[in-house]
Amino acid sequence: MNPLVQVAVKSPVYGVFDYRWKAASPIIAGTRVTVPFGRRQVIGVVVAAIEHSDVPSGKLRAVHKVHDEKPVLPEDLLKLLQWASRYYHYPLGEVLGSALPVLLRKGHEAVIAERDYYRWVPHEAESGLSRAAPVQQRLLEYLREHDGRPVAVDALRAISPGWRKSMEPLLERGWVACDTAIEVPRNHAAETGPALSDEQAVAVQAVQQTLGSFTSFLLRGVTGSGKTEVYLRCIEEAGKRGLQSLVLVPEISLTPQLMSRFERRISGCLVSLHSGLNDNERLQNWLCAAEGHADVVIGTRSSILAALPRLGLIIIDEEHDGSLKQQDGFRYHARDLALMRARDRQCPVVLGTATPSFETINNVKTGRFRELRLTQRAGNAIPPIMNLLDIRRRKLIEGMSDRLLDAIRDHLDKDGQALVFINRRGFAPTLLCNDCGAAADCRRCDAHMTVHVRQNRLRCHHCGSERPLPAVCDSCGSAELDRVGYGTERITDALQAEFPDVEIARIDRDSTRRKGALEKQLDKATTGQARILVGTQMLAKGHHFPKLTLVCILDADRGLFGTDFRSLEHMAQLTVQVAGRAGRETRQGTVLIQTRNPDNPMLQTLVREGYGAFADIAMADRRLADLPPFSFMALVRAEASAGQEAHAFLQQVSEVLLASRAGRLEVMGPAPAPMERLGGRYRAQLLLQSDRRSVLNDSLARLCTQIDQLPGARKCRWSIDVDPVDLF
Ligand code: ADP
Ligand code: ZN
Ligand code: ZN
Repeated sequence: MNPLVQVAVKSPVYGVFDYRWKAASPIIAGTRVTVPFGRRQVIGVVVAAIEHSDVPSGKLRAVHKVHDEKPVLPEDLLKLLQWASRYYHYPLGEVLGSALPVLLRKGHEAVIAERDYYRWVPHEAESGLSRAAPVQQRLLEYLREHDGRPVAVDALRAISPGWRKSMEPLLERGWVACDTAIEVPRNHAAETGPALSDEQAVAVQAVQQTLGSFTSFLLRGVTGSGKTEVYLRCIEEAGKRGLQSLVLVPEISLTPQLMSRFERRISGCLVSLHSGLNDNERLQNWLCAAEGHADVVIGTRSSILAALPRLGLIIIDEEHDGSLKQQDGFRYHARDLALMRARDRQCPVVLGTATPSFETINNVKTGRFRELRLTQRAGNAIPPIMNLLDIRRRKLIEGMSDRLLDAIRDHLDKDGQALVFINRRGFAPTLLCNDCGAAADCRRCDAHMTVHVRQNRLRCHHCGSERPLPAVCDSCGSAELDRVGYGTERITDALQAEFPDVEIARIDRDSTRRKGALEKQLDKATTGQARILVGTQMLAKGHHFPKLTLVCILDADRGLFGTDFRSLEHMAQLTVQVAGRAGRETRQGTVLIQTRNPDNPMLQTLVREGYGAFADIAMADRRLADLPPFSFMALVRAEASAGQEAHAFLQQVSEVLLASRAGRLEVMGPAPAPMERLGGRYRAQLLLQSDRRSVLNDSLARLCTQIDQLPGARKCRWSIDVDPVDLF
């Protein structure tokens, strides 16, 4: 009788599948195998050896091929992923799949590529080196400057594309040697950091003391207060103790400045994991981390799932950022996985932000997290002055008040730089007919199309459909079409008309789509060549614009009346983050917030007393309303091509949940999603809430055993979102 093994296969069906093991090699959890699955052969991951299977032995099929000698998912990671599969109620095979680079999922070998490296060999006089061979001379010179340290091929190719031919005689003479080694990037940091402020020193020491044990820290400090400097010191210390550091950041491709700062400061092997890498680069960097070569891994959300055998420190920068939560498929929150992982690995986790999420503030208040504060800006920078600009009954020029434009003029006159923030790209969010009142709507969503004048098109920002900008109304044929509302394109045009001699950089997803465009725009912003910056939240994250003195926020009111219970929290975070771009060097910054609700107590608290006071009041409201973080939520979403099917299916789900609930569980709905029709499909949702996490979790677990058999399930696509960030 062959031994039995459980294999997780990427499949929407819950659970794992049993197979017979005929291979001579031992069964090792976390290794990849090819197994027959239905009529196909698929790659799965061994979860465990088992004694007994419920599948009759005649029906058990055999593992076809074993891919790895050692696990691609080591034990600790496998355990974390199994927990995550249960917590988020997402099939284990899918969860394990999302932890692996695409090439490993496809069966690519899990070995780091080998590369050639060249180095200078000490030798006597270089007799016979022809003057007529300048490339040889340059190569030799370059390698000599590196003093025997190995140089990778890329650098040599940069010297001359035909370098390889010129290298041959140098190798023959023994002046240069070539070694083949695995591809592990090595970084030689050239800079040391500044002397720490007292507060920074306290923070660094607190974290360093907990290396080797589990503690969660909130490192709270405004933009520019020196949080990154604290991370760097902690990482250095972890490195000295032979520990790997994992740094999660919201979006690396948006912040090229951050990566180069790490490179200038951290010696050793530094790798990044993010969406800008191609499949092979991603695999190489991932393996570099998994084999323990990488000392520091900097990555976006999914790098919390990277294999890290020497993991000793986790840092999450901008822990409040929405991008830490995966919004489709395996809907995990990287911050929550980080906490689980740190506890399991007995290492500290540092959450850094100026505007902590309410979840994190609550964790500090209940004593689960330790708070470290940086109250001063590093160097001499002083915090910006924030002012509300009442725009009721004021003359507006393209949505901007005369006082706002005067302020921009004033700052430009004094050699400052201004940032105008409007979180909407395109020219105008609506195209409205003046005669019949019809709006140009998306044909597949319950949404207006956005006018994009630069491309002469209408675009739906929800499903991506687009069509040419019409000359006449679709409904009545009138040519009286009004562009209503403002987006970055329109604001840029208006400002250009107002300040014709000034260069303006627009930074949003449209203006930065082409490769290199973002770097170019950021460069103009940093050097001050562009004196006015117009942009969306892309501008809010992590950038350092030394000349910036004025920040104008045009549409803060939108967040005051959002439909989601988190709208207000997100508005405040975004406002503070954008405001933080102002006055990062010696000149004090000014922030102007246009509003039609200058008496709104939340807005006033935020502006006068800051984010902390704001959060206290807003969180008291959450507590009264029994909303997270004071209760726990999950959302069951469904969508179908016909109107009533999603609703009917969720009605069945609701009945199952209510019949089997194991404690106080509120089931609200089904209700249509806030945008009911999206991409041509009808969507509905069911909101579950409980004051006990275990009740929510147990109810969902029970639901998952039955949900596929519900009569409506075949007509719908459904998903479960535990701890949803957005309720749509
Ligand atoms: P944050 O991550 O909180 O935005 P940074 O660490 O990027 O802050 O620091 C902001 C700026 O101040 C950077 O230019 C950094 O080099 C500088 N800085 C940080 N700490 C110090 C310090 N102790 N002394 C002088 N300059 C510092
Ligand atoms: Zn019309
Ligand atoms: Zn649409």
